[in-house]
Order: sequence, then structure tokens, then C-alpha cells
Amino acid sequence: MSREIRELDAETRDRIAAGEVVERPASVVKELVENALDADAGRIEVAVEAGGTDRIVVSDDGVGMTESDARLAVEEHTTSKLRDVSDLDSIGTLGFRGEALHAIGSVARLRIETKPQGEAYGTELVVEGGEVASCGPTGCPEGTTVEVVELFGNVPARRKYLKTEATEFDHVARILTGYALARPDVAVSLSRDGRETFATTGDGDRTGAVMAVYGRDVAESMVPVEYEGEGEQPVAGVEGLVSHPETNRAGSEYVTTLVDGRYVTASAVREAVVDAYGDGLAPDRYPFAVVDLRLPPGGVDVNVHPRKLEVLFAEEAAVKSAVTEAVETALLGSGLLRSRAPRG
Ligand code: ADP
Ligand code: MG
Repeated sequence: MSREIRELDAETRDRIAAGEVVERPASVVKELVENALDADAGRIEVAVEAGGTDRIVVSDDGVGMTESDARLAVEEHTTSKLRDVSDLDSIGTLGFRGEALHAIGSVARLRIETKPQGEAYGTELVVEGGEVASCGPTGCPEGTTVEVVELFGNVPARRKYLKTEATEFDHVARILTGYALARPDVAVSLSRDGRETFATTGDGDRTGAVMAVYGRDVAESMVPVEYEGEGEQPVAGVEGLVSHPETNRAGSEYVTTLVDGRYVTASAVREAVVDAYGDGLAPDRYPFAVVDLRLPPGGVDVNVHPRKLEVLFAEEAAVKSAVTEAVETALLGSGLLRSRAPRG
């Protein structure tokens, strides 16, 4: 093989970059749901077929796009959410990289139907093999529907690494559950091969959202967490719901962690929740919990990973003890724990 250094062509570059954003059906769902939330949707419907490997449809009633915006949206590094580098320090939207639609379009067939509020007609845009294949007016409801067909159909090596349909669906369901619990003010529904898995009402009640995704027994075992933090400038406020210690599971995935309403992975927070239960939980058992942290500006970095799931806390140890304190206080106050867990 020649060792001559060459510049990669655009198609190869796109596919490599797409792999950073799109790993599996759940990553597509995450990006599309975040886009819907950023578009101020009040309702988000997600439908997947074959665990999302054959088809993913995400539909919202948000602000929609004009034809020219839709054309721009599927280009590389195009976003309406950041203007310049200074905006990076104060991100108020879930998306900001301007990569997702472009990346999805380079590893799947992408169809977008979109109509801004109050417009007479909408736009249908189809991307195939990373190129706009067609774009024109169409009749459709206000908002946006994005359809993703045959994920990695053009990247056989990648498609081969997808897990079973059941496993891929589990990942999709976990992401969507996270957003449904993060945003009880938005009606979120998931259907699998034509059958509804869950649907929240969007009435803003988090316990109601827990009931929709986990069922009545879990919802009835939840108690509220409300903790403002200590001192003049608390390191973290904590809000949410935690379950009775007897309502527990073997997996940690029922502990949903949020930062300022954003669904994230934060293993430190998960550990801190479990710590609060002390002996109330058997080893390797986890409660159900939704923990939403309110952090001061600069308290967290959400920009650490292209898939933006794991967050970094500026003061992790202090955040952890705030969460443990908050959850303990909730459990003690509701009589679900008799005494504080010993520290050390
Ligand atoms: P980002 O979300 O980082 O801006 P995306 O590639 O996900 O990048 O989306 C590009 C742009 O397309 C967004 O900035 C937004 O203006 C527009 N867009 C994407 N999805 C939607 C949607 N569901 N409703 C309205 N606009 C959307
Ligand atoms: Mg986005």
C-alpha cells in the first residue's frame, strides 16, 4: 500500500463524520426528538419498525421549516441555534452542532415533510446517498415529520454491527422514556411496529408521565424531591421523584438523570441517588427515580461528546452530596426511610 498522504473525498469524509453522530437507531431518535423539542413542539410522536433499523418516523407540531430552511438544514454544519463561537458558552438549545440531519442523510434515506405555522403548504425533501434527491411543495400538517429508512443501508460494515431488533428497540425506548420524563409538558408517544408502547399526555404532571411509561404501581410509589441547596450560591438544586425503596429493579436504567431539564447520562448522579437509600436497598438494586439538577451557569459542560450524552460537572463531589442530601430528605420526609445512611 502506498504511504502517500491524500485528502479524503467528500463522501468518505461525510460517512466517517456521520459515524460520530449516528451509532444506532437510538442515536437517530435522540437527535430528531431534540430537534422537535428545540422547535417548541407540544407533541412528539415516534414510530419505529424493526427496532428502528428499517424505519424511524419522528413527527412534531413545532415551528416547522420553510423550503429554503429545509434545504439548508440537511447541509453540513448548518444550524439556526448558534451564530458564533461566543454562543457556545451559553447554549440554551439541545442541539447546536448542526450535524445531525446531514449525518443521518449520509447513512440512510431521509425524508422530511415540514410546514411553518400558518403557511398554506409545506415542503417535502428527500435525501438519498447524502444528496438532495427531490424537494418541492406538499400538503402536510404544521410542524415537521422526519422519516429515516434503512439506517446504514449504504454502510454494510456498520449495519452488521447493529444488535438484534429487540436490543435496538430497548435503546430507543430508553431514550424516549428519558425525554418523556424530562418534559412532562410535551405529549410524547412511542410505537413499535404499529403498536403503541406508551404515550404521555403532555399536561405537565411528572407523576402522570411516570405512570404512562412505567405503570401505576411505580407512579404510586414515587415521592417528590424538592431541594434548593445550601448557602448563598448552592452548587445544585434538585427536583424530581424517587420511589419507595421496595419498588426497585436490578438495572440502573430506571434512574433518569436530567440537568436543567436536559436528559443526560450522569453516573455520578445515579450513584448519589443509590447512596441516599443506604441499607434500604439490597446490593445491586436500583430505585426508580427522575432527578433534575438545577446548576448555576458554568456548573456543567454538555459539550464533551458528539453524542452529547455524558456530562461533566465542574464540582462533581459537591453535586453528588447535594443529590444524596436531596433524596434522603425526600425519603425521610415521606417516612420511606427511618434514618440517614451512615457517611464514610
Ligand atoms: P442542530 O440541531 O444542531 O442545529 P440539525 O442538523 O439537527 O442541527 O438541524 C439543523 C437545523 O434544522 C436546526 O438548527 C433547525 O433550524 C432545523 N430543524 C431540524 N429539525 C427541525 C424540526 N423538527 N423542526 C423545525 N426545525 C428543525
Ligand atoms: Mg439537532
